[in-house]
Amino acid sequence: MTTAPYTAQDLQQLAEQAGRDLEDASALDVLRWAADTFGPRFCVTSSMEDAVVAHLASRALPGVDVVFLDTGYHFPETIGTRDAVAAVMDVNVITLTPVQTVAEQDAQYGPRLHDRDPDQCCALRKVAPLEAGLKGYDAWATGLRRDESPTRANTPVVAWDSRRQKVKIAPIARWTQEDVEAYVAEHGVLTNPLLMDGYASVGCAPCTRRVLEGEDARAGRWAGIGKTECGIHQ
Ligand code: SF4
Repeated sequence: MTTAPYTAQDLQQLAEQAGRDLEDASALDVLRWAADTFGPRFCVTSSMEDAVVAHLASRALPGVDVVFLDTGYHFPETIGTRDAVAAVMDVNVITLTPVQTVAEQDAQYGPRLHDRDPDQCCALRKVAPLEAGLKGYDAWATGLRRDESPTRANTPVVAWDSRRQKVKIAPIARWTQEDVEAYVAEHGVLTNPLLMDGYASVGCAPCTRRVLEGEDARAGRWAGIGKTECGIHQ
């Protein structure tokens, strides 16, 4: 396992080479490459919609760091999923929180900022804490998939995250919803109970609704206001 202190230039070269070499590799092989290349300077981020990528990563790197953003607005089921993952899986769950509590944010910006300026709310409660939390890592993996929505159709498996100067990995980018369900069934992976209750994508409670027949998986996120991403992946 290599834990050399890579420079940003090293990381960019690694990302670009792996982006070419691993486009058709299996998700597990992509994560084994990440584990071998970055060791403990590699982490997985999880929304706790399911634990598929965390499970795959724990096979490649037992005890891998799994980073969860607790915005203060999650459904209780999401917090319960996080706690279950921490209790039963061979991973190290790290919970990141925003600088301000919801009450402190309300006091400064007014209540229900998510209704009035969701971009600012996401910037404060998601984007900024993740930027800070990823500082100690060279590479991070996400559960992004190309079939989730048109905005994610071109998600690379491995790419250079120039904004954060890190290697960004989407090991299941090429998976379909059926692939996810098959992996969950085969390995008994934990999933958020809301997935069995009409939610196809699980975010903060005020900004997430159930999806309707025929809608894509992320249609229930910020529905009706034209927002499709929180800003982490843009
Ligand atoms: Fe705020 Fe909604 Fe973004 Fe959560 S998803 S941080 S509640 S705007």
